[in-house]
Amino acid sequence: MSIHNKVALITGGSRGIGRAVAVRLARDGVKLAINYKSDRESADLVVGIANKMGVEALAVQADVSDSSQVDIMVDQIIGTLGNVDILVNNAGIIHDSLLMRMSEDVWDEVLNTNLKGSYNCTKAVLRYMVRQRWGRVINVVSVVGIEGNPGQSNYAASKAGVIAFSRSIAKEVASRNITVNSVAPGYISTEIVADLNPEFKELILSRIPQNKFGTVEDVSNMVGYLASEEANYITGEVIRVDGGIEL
Ligand code: NAP
Repeated sequence: MSIHNKVALITGGSRGIGRAVAVRLARDGVKLAINYKSDRESADLVVGIANKMGVEALAVQADVSDSSQVDIMVDQIIGTLGNVDILVNNAGIIHDSLLMRMSEDVWDEVLNTNLKGSYNCTKAVLRYMVRQRWGRVINVVSVVGIEGNPGQSNYAASKAGVIAFSRSIAKEVASRNITVNSVAPGYISTEIVADLNPEFKELILSRIPQNKFGTVEDVSNMVGYLASEEANYITGEVIRVDGGIEL
């Protein structure tokens, strides 16, 4: 058994971790729907990489926080690639602020994208997985959702919410041969980390026993494993990929 020719929807697949997940799954012969919100050009580049690897792929625009856009996107994927077997809920944003200064809009923006987005996408694809009695849902969360972090109460709450959502859905669909897991990265070298100020970077490094930031491939390898048949007895789990960080 292999996942060759299965179809994966990767939300936020145009950049960073999502892009690395796309490359990893393409290597396994998985057909790809690369979701993005606004940057079509980057999504098309990922489609081009997948095509060069001999894999069918398409870029699909949708704001994951909007259920009607998500439903249209899923219809488009079903129409073109025929199915969604693997969902990677990866699209996510941060908008940091201490709670006392955090506006309701900023709270809603992060919760709607990270938590409601995972609900919208999972709900839209689950019926296809249930019908065929096979599926993989993999949620990219964060160690911040496990440990909390000052200035990130909205982000931490959104990711903790996804973890609880993930564990609950895992129990709902376990009998249908669908696994639902979360991968919790620590600090990964993406644009977000590149933009941190040097002193803060040093502080973070001092809290990582491996004394280095993770790579997007460190995360995509775990997502690839959870998507594979080898991981069929793992469900409802949260797996940290964080170099041993203690926040
Ligand atoms: P990134 O480089 O900022 O990329 C974010 C992706 O999400 C982009 O493809 C973006 O598309 C898409 N996106 C944002 N809002 C969206 C929306 N409303 N609807 C659909 N797509 C949307 O992010 P990243 O650093 O790779 O992070 C990916 C995931 O890993 C996130 O869930 C993040 O919380 C988590 N994570 C990251 C780190 C880290 O160190 N980087 C650590 C822990 C967890 P557009 O470009 O078109 O807007």
